[in-house]
Amino acid sequence: MLKLPAFFFRINYYQIKYLIILFSLFASFLNPIYGQTNLYTNADFIKKLYNDPNYLIFKEKIYKEFKHSHSVYWGEFIKGVNEDLYTKQKIIAFTFDACGREKSYAYDSQLINFLRKQKIPSTLFITGQWIDENYETFLELSKDPLFEIENHGFYHRPCCSNGKSIYGIQGTKNISEAVDEIEANAQKIERITGKKPRFYRSATAYTDEICTKIAKKIGITIVSYHVLAGDAIPFAPKSAIIKNVIHNLKSGPIIIMHFNHPKWNTYEAMQEIVPELKRQGYSFVKLENISPKKNNTQKHRLPI
Ligand SMILES: [Zn+2]
Repeated sequence: MLKLPAFFFRINYYQIKYLIILFSLFASFLNPIYGQTNLYTNADFIKKLYNDPNYLIFKEKIYKEFKHSHSVYWGEFIKGVNEDLYTKQKIIAFTFDACGREKSYAYDSQLINFLRKQKIPSTLFITGQWIDENYETFLELSKDPLFEIENHGFYHRPCCSNGKSIYGIQGTKNISEAVDEIEANAQKIERITGKKPRFYRSATAYTDEICTKIAKKIGITIVSYHVLAGDAIPFAPKSAIIKNVIHNLKSGPIIIMHFNHPKWNTYEAMQEIVPELKRQGYSFVKLENISPKKNNTQKHRLPI
C-alpha cells in the first residue's frame, strides 16, 4: 500500500492555497509556450488598447477628422468598397467568412479539409469573437500557407458611422466604435499571427462611406464580393448554392461563402462546385494575389 510521508498529513489550509497558487503560476507559464491559451481575448484586448496612449491618440485623430461628416450611402457596393477588383485571367478568389454572432461560432472542419485536399488557396475573413471561440483552430489556420487571414471585424458589427442596422444586426453606432470594429481586430490578428490584415469585410458586407474613409486612414482595404453563394441562408439547398456560384462567375473573381456553419450546405456544395470550376479551366488564388498593389495593370480600383 502507498505510504504518504508524515508531513503530508500536517498540511493546513494556507499551505494548500499556497500550493494551488504555485501550480497555477506554473501552468500559466507553460500555456503560452505551447500556444494553448488565448492571451488576446476580445475582453482583455480592448482593455489593453484603451490603456494604450498610441491607440487613443489615433482614435482621437480619426474622430476629429470625421466628426462633422454625415453618411449618405449605406450598402455592399458603395464608392470606396473594393468590390471591383478586376482581372482578365480565369481565376477565382474563394473567400470564406467566420462570423461571430450567437450560434455562429462553429467550425466547418470538413470544408477546410476539403480545401486542403483539393489545394484551393482561400481567403478567410475572421472576427475577433470567432478567434476567441476557436483559438487553437485559428492558430492552425494562420500557419497554413494555403490560407490568407483577413479581418471580419472585432464584434461582427456592420461598419457604420451612425448606428444603422441590416438584417437585424446593429451596426457600429459612431466613429469610435467603427474604428474599434476595424482596427482592434486588425491589431488582434497581427498580435497573434505576426501579420496585419490588408483587407476588411464588414459584417454582412454593408458599410457606409465614412467607414471606407476611416479604413483608408487605417491602411486597410474594404472588400465586398462579386458572387454571393447564398450559403449563409440557413439550410439553403446545396443545388441553390451551386447554381448561385456557377451562374454568376462572370460578375468577377471574388466569391463569398462561410466556414462557420458546418451543419449547413457549404461543404456539400463545394464538392460539386470545385470539380466544375476546374473542368471550366479556372484556377484559384488568394485575395492578396489579385490586389491592386501586386499588379496594377490587371486591376481596376474604384476611386476613394
Ligand atoms: Zn459575417
